[in-house]
Amino acid sequence: NYHFDAKPELYQASQIGPDYIKYYQNSPKIGTLMLAPVNVNGFYVGFIGTDSVDKESWGKEDLDLLVAFAELFGNAVLQIDVVDQQENYIRFFKDLFRLNTETSLGIEPHELYKQAASILKKYFSFDKLTFAFLNRDQSSELTIEYVEGSEADYTIGHEISIHKGVWEPLIKEKLPVLIRDYDKSNVEFRFQPEDLKIIPFQSAIGIPVSPSSREGGGILMESFKTDNYTKQDVNTLALFGRNFTEILNRLTVYQSMKDLAMIDGLTGIYNHRAFKERLQIEIERSRRYNTSLTLLILDLDKFKRINDTYGHLNGDYVLKKCANIIRGSVRTVDTVARYGGEEFAVILINSDKKSCLNTAERICKNIHTFLFEKDGMTEHMSVSIGMSEYPGDGDNLQSLISSADMAMYRAKRAGGNQVMLYEKES
Ligand code: GH3
Ligand code: MG
Ligand code: MG
Repeated sequence: NYHFDAKPELYQASQIGPDYIKYYQNSPKIGTLMLAPVNVNGFYVGFIGTDSVDKESWGKEDLDLLVAFAELFGNAVLQIDVVDQQENYIRFFKDLFRLNTETSLGIEPHELYKQAASILKKYFSFDKLTFAFLNRDQSSELTIEYVEGSEADYTIGHEISIHKGVWEPLIKEKLPVLIRDYDKSNVEFRFQPEDLKIIPFQSAIGIPVSPSSREGGGILMESFKTDNYTKQDVNTLALFGRNFTEILNRLTVYQSMKDLAMIDGLTGIYNHRAFKERLQIEIERSRRYNTSLTLLILDLDKFKRINDTYGHLNGDYVLKKCANIIRGSVRTVDTVARYGGEEFAVILINSDKKSCLNTAERICKNIHTFLFEKDGMTEHMSVSIGMSEYPGDGDNLQSLISSADMAMYRAKRAGGNQVMLYEKES
Protein backbone atom coordinates (compact mmCIF):
# COMPACT_ATOMS: atom_id res chain seq x y z
CA ASN A 1 0.00 0.00 0.00
CA TYR A 2 3.01 2.27 0.28
CA HIS A 3 2.72 3.27 -3.39
CA PHE A 4 -0.64 4.95 -2.82
CA ASP A 5 0.66 7.39 -0.26
CA ALA A 6 4.42 7.38 -0.56
CA LYS A 7 6.31 9.50 1.95
CA PRO A 8 9.49 9.05 3.99
CA GLU A 9 8.87 6.40 6.65
CA LEU A 10 10.90 4.85 9.42
CA TYR A 11 9.54 1.64 10.97
CA GLN A 12 10.80 -0.05 14.09
CA ALA A 13 10.60 -3.80 14.80
CA SER A 14 7.21 -3.65 16.50
CA GLN A 15 5.64 -2.06 13.45
CA ILE A 16 6.91 -4.66 11.00
CA GLY A 17 5.19 -7.97 10.46
CA PRO A 18 1.87 -9.43 9.33
CA ASP A 19 -0.18 -7.14 11.58
CA TYR A 20 1.28 -3.77 10.61
CA ILE A 21 3.59 -3.27 7.65
CA LYS A 22 4.49 -6.21 5.51
CA TYR A 23 7.67 -5.62 3.57
CA TYR A 24 8.77 -8.91 2.06
CA GLN A 25 6.47 -11.67 0.85
CA ASN A 26 7.90 -14.11 3.35
CA SER A 27 9.04 -11.64 5.91
CA PRO A 28 12.49 -12.41 7.22
CA LYS A 29 13.31 -11.00 10.60
CA ILE A 30 13.56 -7.24 10.15
CA GLY A 31 14.55 -4.98 13.02
CA THR A 32 14.41 -1.58 11.27
CA LEU A 33 13.06 -0.40 7.95
CA MET A 34 13.38 2.92 6.10
CA LEU A 35 11.52 3.92 2.94
CA ALA A 36 12.03 7.04 0.81
CA PRO A 37 10.02 7.83 -2.32
CA VAL A 38 11.80 8.51 -5.62
CA ASN A 39 10.29 11.20 -7.81
CA VAL A 40 11.33 11.89 -11.39
CA ASN A 41 10.26 15.22 -12.79
CA GLY A 42 7.69 15.57 -10.01
CA PHE A 43 6.19 12.13 -10.56
CA TYR A 44 6.46 9.30 -8.07
CA VAL A 45 8.15 6.33 -9.79
CA GLY A 46 9.11 4.05 -6.87
CA PHE A 47 11.00 4.03 -3.62
CA ILE A 48 14.31 3.15 -2.05
CA GLY A 49 14.03 0.86 0.97
CA THR A 50 16.72 -0.23 3.38
CA ASP A 51 16.20 -2.83 6.06
CA SER A 52 18.32 -4.19 8.86
CA VAL A 53 17.98 -7.27 11.08
CA ASP A 54 19.09 -5.14 14.03
CA LYS A 55 16.55 -3.23 16.04
CA GLU A 56 16.77 0.56 16.23
CA SER A 57 19.47 0.55 13.57
CA TRP A 58 18.50 3.99 12.31
CA GLY A 59 16.91 7.15 13.54
CA LYS A 60 15.43 10.35 12.10
CA GLU A 61 18.80 11.65 10.78
CA ASP A 62 19.34 8.45 8.83
CA LEU A 63 15.94 8.79 7.25
CA ASP A 64 16.76 12.40 6.26
CA LEU A 65 19.92 11.11 4.64
CA LEU A 66 18.00 8.46 2.69
CA VAL A 67 15.46 11.06 1.56
CA ALA A 68 18.27 13.32 0.31
CA PHE A 69 19.80 10.39 -1.51
CA ALA A 70 16.46 9.46 -3.10
CA GLU A 71 16.14 13.05 -4.32
CA LEU A 72 19.59 13.01 -5.91
CA PHE A 73 18.83 9.66 -7.42
CA GLY A 74 15.57 10.91 -8.93
CA ASN A 75 17.42 13.85 -10.49
CA ALA A 76 20.05 11.55 -11.95
CA VAL A 77 17.37 9.38 -13.51
CA LEU A 78 15.75 12.48 -14.97
CA GLN A 79 19.07 13.60 -16.45
CA ILE A 80 19.69 10.23 -18.05
CA ASP A 81 16.21 10.44 -19.46
CA VAL A 82 16.77 13.91 -20.86
CA VAL A 83 20.10 12.98 -22.43
CA ASP A 84 18.48 9.90 -23.90
CA GLN A 85 15.69 11.97 -25.38
CA GLN A 86 18.12 14.51 -26.79
CA GLU A 87 20.24 11.82 -28.42
CA ASN A 88 17.11 10.35 -29.88
CA TYR A 89 16.06 13.73 -31.15
CA ILE A 90 19.45 14.39 -32.76
CA ARG A 91 19.34 11.00 -34.48
CA PHE A 92 15.86 11.79 -35.71
CA PHE A 93 17.05 15.10 -37.09
CA LYS A 94 19.99 13.44 -38.85
CA ASP A 95 17.71 10.86 -40.43
CA LEU A 96 15.42 13.60 -41.57
CA PHE A 97 18.30 15.59 -43.00
CA ARG A 98 19.48 12.53 -44.88
CA LEU A 99 16.02 11.93 -46.28
CA ASN A 100 15.85 15.54 -47.40
CA THR A 101 19.28 15.69 -49.01
CA GLU A 102 19.68 12.19 -50.39
CA THR A 103 16.29 11.55 -51.90
CA SER A 104 16.77 11.24 -55.63
CA LEU A 105 14.48 13.30 -57.82
CA GLY A 106 13.27 10.34 -59.82
CA ILE A 107 12.02 8.46 -56.74
CA GLU A 108 8.53 6.98 -56.90
CA PRO A 109 6.14 8.42 -54.30
CA HIS A 110 5.53 4.98 -52.79
CA GLU A 111 9.26 4.50 -52.23
CA LEU A 112 9.51 7.94 -50.61
CA TYR A 113 6.58 7.18 -48.29
CA LYS A 114 8.27 3.93 -47.33
CA GLN A 115 11.51 5.69 -46.46
CA ALA A 116 9.63 8.33 -44.49
CA ALA A 117 7.74 5.59 -42.64
CA SER A 118 10.96 3.81 -41.73
CA ILE A 119 12.18 6.98 -40.00
CA LEU A 120 8.88 7.54 -38.19
CA LYS A 121 8.97 3.93 -37.02
CA LYS A 122 12.25 4.53 -35.22
CA TYR A 123 10.93 7.41 -33.12
CA PHE A 124 7.24 6.79 -32.64
CA SER A 125 5.30 3.71 -31.72
CA PHE A 126 2.10 3.13 -33.65
CA ASP A 127 -0.27 0.37 -34.56
CA LYS A 128 -1.23 2.10 -37.74
CA LEU A 129 0.41 4.73 -39.91
CA THR A 130 -1.49 6.39 -42.75
CA PHE A 131 -0.49 8.88 -45.46
CA ALA A 132 -3.49 10.39 -47.26
CA PHE A 133 -3.92 13.21 -49.76
CA LEU A 134 -6.73 15.01 -51.48
CA ASN A 135 -7.15 13.85 -55.05
CA ARG A 136 -5.40 15.83 -57.74
CA ASP A 137 -8.63 16.54 -59.61
CA GLN A 138 -9.61 18.95 -56.81
CA SER A 139 -12.61 16.87 -55.87
CA SER A 140 -12.56 16.96 -52.11
CA GLU A 141 -11.89 13.25 -51.74
CA LEU A 142 -9.17 12.21 -49.37
CA THR A 143 -7.50 8.98 -50.44
CA ILE A 144 -5.03 6.76 -48.64
CA GLU A 145 -1.73 6.57 -50.47
CA TYR A 146 0.36 4.63 -47.97
CA VAL A 147 -0.23 2.53 -44.84
CA GLU A 148 1.74 0.49 -42.35
CA GLY A 149 0.50 -1.55 -39.43
CA SER A 150 -2.89 -3.04 -38.61
CA GLU A 151 -3.85 -5.12 -41.64
CA ALA A 152 -7.53 -5.56 -40.89
CA ASP A 153 -8.18 -1.91 -41.55
CA TYR A 154 -8.23 0.73 -44.26
CA THR A 155 -5.56 0.39 -46.87
CA ILE A 156 -4.15 2.10 -49.95
CA GLY A 157 -6.86 3.46 -52.23
CA HIS A 158 -9.56 3.66 -49.55
CA GLU A 159 -11.36 6.95 -49.24
CA ILE A 160 -11.74 8.91 -46.02
CA SER A 161 -14.75 10.88 -44.79
CA ILE A 162 -13.50 14.15 -43.43
CA HIS A 163 -16.45 15.86 -41.75
CA LYS A 164 -16.39 15.15 -37.97
CA GLY A 165 -13.65 12.58 -38.35
CA VAL A 166 -10.07 12.70 -37.09
CA TRP A 167 -8.80 13.99 -40.47
CA GLU A 168 -10.95 17.12 -40.42
CA PRO A 169 -8.50 19.54 -38.72
CA LEU A 170 -5.58 18.24 -40.80
CA ILE A 171 -7.38 18.92 -44.04
CA LYS A 172 -9.69 21.85 -43.32
CA GLU A 173 -7.57 23.92 -40.96
CA LYS A 174 -4.17 22.44 -41.71
CA LEU A 175 -3.64 21.98 -37.97
CA PRO A 176 -2.04 19.05 -36.14
CA VAL A 177 -4.22 16.70 -34.09
CA LEU A 178 -3.42 15.04 -30.79
CA ILE A 179 -5.97 12.59 -29.46
CA ARG A 180 -5.17 11.05 -26.13
CA ASP A 181 -8.28 8.93 -26.09
CA TYR A 182 -10.78 8.60 -28.95
CA ASP A 183 -13.53 7.74 -26.43
CA LYS A 184 -13.13 11.06 -24.63
CA SER A 185 -12.55 13.25 -27.68
CA ASN A 186 -15.17 15.06 -29.73
CA VAL A 187 -13.95 13.25 -32.83
CA GLU A 188 -16.81 10.98 -33.94
CA PHE A 189 -14.86 8.53 -36.02
CA ARG A 190 -11.47 7.81 -37.52
CA PHE A 191 -11.82 7.33 -41.28
CA GLN A 192 -15.47 6.40 -41.76
CA PRO A 193 -18.50 6.81 -39.43
CA GLU A 194 -18.84 4.11 -36.76
CA ASP A 195 -15.39 2.68 -37.37
CA LEU A 196 -14.27 3.10 -33.76
CA LYS A 197 -16.72 0.35 -32.87
CA ILE A 198 -14.91 -2.05 -35.17
CA ILE A 199 -11.27 -1.61 -34.23
CA PRO A 200 -10.60 -0.04 -30.83
CA PHE A 201 -7.89 2.48 -31.58
CA GLN A 202 -7.33 4.71 -28.56
CA SER A 203 -4.92 7.53 -29.31
CA ALA A 204 -3.71 9.34 -32.40
CA ILE A 205 -1.32 12.01 -33.58
CA GLY A 206 -1.41 13.67 -36.97
CA ILE A 207 0.07 16.53 -38.95
CA PRO A 208 -1.01 18.22 -42.15
CA VAL A 209 1.18 17.69 -45.21
CA SER A 210 0.29 20.12 -47.90
CA PRO A 211 2.63 20.05 -50.89
CA SER A 212 2.11 22.58 -53.65
CA SER A 213 0.73 19.94 -55.98
CA ARG A 214 -2.14 18.97 -53.66
CA GLU A 215 -4.93 20.81 -51.95
CA GLY A 216 -4.07 19.05 -48.70
CA GLY A 217 -3.16 15.85 -46.98
CA GLY A 218 -1.62 14.47 -43.84
CA ILE A 219 0.18 11.80 -41.89
CA LEU A 220 -1.66 10.04 -39.05
CA MET A 221 -0.30 7.62 -36.49
CA GLU A 222 -2.66 5.67 -34.25
CA SER A 223 -2.19 3.43 -31.27
CA PHE A 224 -4.26 0.89 -29.35
CA LYS A 225 -2.89 2.46 -26.16
CA THR A 226 -4.42 5.57 -24.64
CA ASP A 227 -2.11 8.55 -24.18
CA ASN A 228 0.51 7.19 -26.52
CA TYR A 229 1.53 10.65 -27.80
CA THR A 230 2.56 13.93 -26.20
CA LYS A 231 2.59 17.60 -27.17
CA GLN A 232 6.34 17.28 -27.69
CA ASP A 233 5.62 14.51 -30.20
CA VAL A 234 3.39 16.91 -32.09
CA ASN A 235 6.29 19.37 -32.46
CA THR A 236 8.66 16.65 -33.57
CA LEU A 237 6.19 15.28 -36.06
CA ALA A 238 5.44 18.78 -37.35
CA LEU A 239 9.14 19.26 -38.05
CA PHE A 240 9.06 16.00 -39.94
CA GLY A 241 6.01 17.18 -41.86
CA ARG A 242 7.72 20.37 -42.99
CA ASN A 243 10.72 18.48 -44.33
CA PHE A 244 8.55 15.87 -45.95
CA THR A 245 6.49 18.57 -47.65
CA GLU A 246 9.66 20.14 -48.96
CA ILE A 247 10.75 16.83 -50.49
CA LEU A 248 7.37 16.35 -52.10
CA ASN A 249 7.61 19.85 -53.51
CA ARG A 250 11.00 19.12 -54.98
CA LEU A 251 9.70 15.96 -56.62
CA THR A 252 6.84 18.00 -58.01
CA VAL A 253 9.24 20.57 -59.40
CA TYR A 254 11.07 17.76 -61.14
CA GLN A 255 7.85 16.40 -62.51
CA SER A 256 6.68 19.77 -63.74
CA MET A 257 10.05 20.40 -65.33
CA LYS A 258 9.40 17.42 -67.51
CA ASP A 259 5.92 18.71 -68.18
CA LEU A 260 7.11 22.17 -69.07
CA ALA A 261 9.66 20.77 -71.50
CA MET A 262 12.56 21.71 -69.31
CA ILE A 263 14.32 18.63 -70.50
CA ASP A 264 16.57 19.13 -73.48
CA GLY A 265 15.05 17.38 -76.46
CA LEU A 266 18.29 16.10 -77.96
CA THR A 267 20.08 14.77 -74.88
CA GLY A 268 17.27 14.05 -72.40
CA ILE A 269 18.94 16.00 -69.59
CA TYR A 270 17.86 19.35 -68.11
CA ASN A 271 18.00 22.34 -70.44
CA HIS A 272 19.48 25.73 -69.68
CA ARG A 273 16.39 27.13 -68.00
CA ALA A 274 15.92 24.08 -65.80
CA PHE A 275 19.57 24.21 -64.86
CA LYS A 276 19.29 27.77 -63.63
CA GLU A 277 16.19 27.00 -61.61
CA ARG A 278 17.80 23.97 -60.00
CA LEU A 279 20.98 25.85 -59.24
CA GLN A 280 18.97 28.60 -57.55
CA ILE A 281 17.05 26.03 -55.47
CA GLU A 282 20.21 24.19 -54.49
CA ILE A 283 22.00 27.42 -53.55
CA GLU A 284 19.11 28.33 -51.29
CA ARG A 285 19.08 24.91 -49.72
CA SER A 286 22.84 24.98 -49.13
CA ARG A 287 22.45 28.40 -47.55
CA ARG A 288 19.71 27.12 -45.25
CA TYR A 289 21.52 23.96 -44.18
CA ASN A 290 24.96 25.55 -44.20
CA THR A 291 26.40 23.04 -46.65
CA SER A 292 28.47 23.56 -49.77
CA LEU A 293 27.83 22.65 -53.38
CA THR A 294 30.04 22.41 -56.43
CA LEU A 295 29.30 23.55 -59.95
CA LEU A 296 31.02 22.09 -63.01
CA ILE A 297 30.91 23.76 -66.41
CA LEU A 298 32.03 21.49 -69.22
CA ASP A 299 32.83 22.43 -72.81
CA LEU A 300 33.70 19.83 -75.45
CA ASP A 301 37.06 20.47 -77.08
CA LYS A 302 37.12 21.08 -80.84
CA PHE A 303 33.60 19.86 -81.26
CA LYS A 304 32.93 21.93 -84.39
CA ARG A 305 35.29 19.65 -86.28
CA ILE A 306 32.83 16.74 -85.82
CA ASN A 307 30.06 18.71 -87.49
CA ASP A 308 32.37 19.94 -90.22
CA THR A 309 33.85 16.50 -90.96
CA TYR A 310 30.90 14.12 -90.46
CA GLY A 311 27.82 16.33 -90.52
CA HIS A 312 25.33 17.48 -87.89
CA LEU A 313 23.76 14.09 -87.24
CA ASN A 314 27.07 12.74 -86.05
CA GLY A 315 27.54 15.90 -84.04
CA ASP A 316 24.17 15.25 -82.41
CA TYR A 317 25.16 11.68 -81.68
CA VAL A 318 28.32 12.84 -79.90
CA LEU A 319 26.33 15.31 -77.81
CA LYS A 320 23.83 12.62 -76.78
CA LYS A 321 26.56 10.17 -75.84
CA CYS A 322 28.42 12.81 -73.85
CA ALA A 323 25.26 13.62 -71.89
CA ASN A 324 24.90 9.91 -71.07
CA ILE A 325 28.51 9.59 -70.02
CA ILE A 326 28.27 12.62 -67.72
CA ARG A 327 24.95 11.43 -66.25
CA GLY A 328 26.49 8.02 -65.61
CA SER A 329 29.52 9.51 -63.89
CA VAL A 330 27.67 11.28 -61.07
CA ARG A 331 25.15 10.43 -58.32
CA THR A 332 21.44 10.44 -59.07
CA VAL A 333 20.94 13.39 -56.71
CA ASP A 334 23.29 15.51 -58.80
CA THR A 335 21.88 17.67 -61.56
CA VAL A 336 23.21 17.32 -65.11
CA ALA A 337 22.17 19.89 -67.69
CA ARG A 338 22.91 20.97 -71.21
CA TYR A 339 24.13 24.50 -70.68
CA GLY A 340 24.61 25.47 -74.33
CA GLY A 341 25.38 23.92 -77.71
CA GLU A 342 28.27 21.65 -76.70
CA GLU A 343 28.44 22.84 -73.11
CA PHE A 344 27.17 21.01 -70.07
CA ALA A 345 26.76 21.85 -66.38
CA VAL A 346 26.72 19.61 -63.32
CA ILE A 347 25.57 20.55 -59.81
CA LEU A 348 27.08 18.34 -57.13
CA ILE A 349 25.22 18.89 -53.88
CA ASN A 350 26.60 18.59 -50.34
CA SER A 351 30.23 18.77 -51.36
CA ASP A 352 33.06 21.24 -51.85
CA LYS A 353 35.15 21.37 -54.99
CA LYS A 354 38.18 19.55 -53.53
CA SER A 355 36.08 16.48 -52.76
CA CYS A 356 34.44 16.72 -56.19
CA LEU A 357 37.73 16.80 -58.07
CA ASN A 358 37.66 13.01 -58.45
CA THR A 359 34.21 13.14 -59.96
CA ALA A 360 35.22 15.86 -62.41
CA GLU A 361 38.33 13.94 -63.41
CA ARG A 362 36.27 10.79 -63.81
CA ILE A 363 33.96 12.61 -66.25
CA CYS A 364 36.99 13.93 -68.11
CA LYS A 365 38.50 10.46 -68.39
CA ASN A 366 35.21 8.71 -69.23
CA ILE A 367 34.64 11.06 -72.16
CA HIS A 368 38.23 10.79 -73.34
CA THR A 369 38.31 6.99 -73.30
CA PHE A 370 34.96 6.55 -75.04
CA LEU A 371 35.11 5.69 -78.72
CA PHE A 372 32.46 7.60 -80.66
CA GLU A 373 31.52 5.40 -83.60
CA LYS A 374 28.77 6.13 -86.08
CA ASP A 375 28.43 5.90 -89.85
CA GLY A 376 32.11 5.71 -90.62
CA MET A 377 33.15 8.03 -87.81
CA THR A 378 35.64 6.73 -85.26
CA GLU A 379 36.67 9.51 -82.93
CA HIS A 380 37.85 10.28 -79.46
CA MET A 381 36.62 13.47 -77.81
CA SER A 382 37.82 15.46 -74.86
CA VAL A 383 36.34 18.05 -72.55
CA SER A 384 37.51 21.07 -70.54
CA ILE A 385 35.98 21.33 -67.07
CA GLY A 386 35.89 24.31 -64.71
CA MET A 387 34.84 24.00 -61.07
CA SER A 388 33.54 26.50 -58.56
CA GLU A 389 31.98 26.01 -55.16
CA TYR A 390 29.28 27.64 -53.08
CA PRO A 391 29.86 29.70 -51.01
CA GLY A 392 33.64 30.09 -51.37
CA ASP A 393 33.79 31.04 -55.07
CA GLY A 394 30.43 32.75 -55.32
CA ASP A 395 27.43 33.09 -53.06
CA ASN A 396 24.87 33.55 -55.81
CA LEU A 397 23.92 32.03 -59.13
CA GLN A 398 25.71 34.54 -61.37
CA SER A 399 29.01 34.63 -59.56
CA LEU A 400 29.08 30.86 -59.15
CA ILE A 401 28.56 30.32 -62.88
CA SER A 402 31.09 32.95 -63.93
CA SER A 403 33.71 31.48 -61.58
CA ALA A 404 33.21 28.01 -63.08
CA ASP A 405 33.29 29.52 -66.56
CA MET A 406 36.59 31.25 -65.89
CA ALA A 407 38.09 28.01 -64.62
CA MET A 408 36.79 26.19 -67.71
CA TYR A 409 38.48 28.68 -70.05
CA ARG A 410 41.73 28.20 -68.17
CA ALA A 411 41.41 24.44 -68.71
CA LYS A 412 40.73 25.12 -72.41
CA ARG A 413 43.73 27.47 -72.76
CA ALA A 414 45.95 24.90 -71.10
CA GLY A 415 45.19 22.49 -73.96
CA GLY A 416 41.82 20.99 -72.94
CA ASN A 417 41.08 17.47 -71.67
CA GLN A 418 41.54 18.59 -68.08
CA VAL A 419 39.90 19.96 -64.95
CA MET A 420 40.63 23.36 -63.38
CA LEU A 421 39.48 24.62 -60.01
CA TYR A 422 38.49 28.26 -59.79
CA GLU A 423 41.12 30.31 -58.00
CA LYS A 424 40.48 33.88 -56.94
CA GLU A 425 43.75 35.30 -58.28
CA SER A 426 43.28 33.71 -61.71
P1 GH3 B 1 36.69 24.66 -78.42
O1 GH3 B 1 37.70 23.57 -78.28
O2 GH3 B 1 37.27 26.01 -78.35
O3 GH3 B 1 35.60 24.50 -77.42
O4 GH3 B 1 36.09 24.52 -79.87
P2 GH3 B 1 34.66 24.01 -80.29
O5 GH3 B 1 34.69 23.66 -81.70
O6 GH3 B 1 34.18 22.97 -79.36
O7 GH3 B 1 33.77 25.29 -79.98
P3 GH3 B 1 32.89 26.23 -80.86
O8 GH3 B 1 32.14 27.08 -79.88
O9 GH3 B 1 33.70 26.91 -81.91
O10 GH3 B 1 31.86 25.26 -81.58
C1 GH3 B 1 30.71 24.79 -80.99
C2 GH3 B 1 29.91 24.14 -82.08
O11 GH3 B 1 28.83 23.36 -81.58
C3 GH3 B 1 29.28 25.14 -83.01
C4 GH3 B 1 27.90 24.63 -83.28
O12 GH3 B 1 27.62 24.46 -84.63
C5 GH3 B 1 27.88 23.28 -82.60
N1 GH3 B 1 26.58 22.94 -82.05
C6 GH3 B 1 25.86 23.66 -81.14
N2 GH3 B 1 24.70 23.01 -80.88
C7 GH3 B 1 24.68 21.88 -81.64
C8 GH3 B 1 23.74 20.82 -81.82
O13 GH3 B 1 22.67 20.78 -81.19
N3 GH3 B 1 24.06 19.84 -82.67
C9 GH3 B 1 25.23 19.83 -83.38
N4 GH3 B 1 25.46 18.83 -84.21
N5 GH3 B 1 26.12 20.83 -83.25
C10 GH3 B 1 25.86 21.85 -82.39
MG1 MG C 1 31.49 26.17 -76.43
MG1 MG D 1 33.80 23.61 -77.36
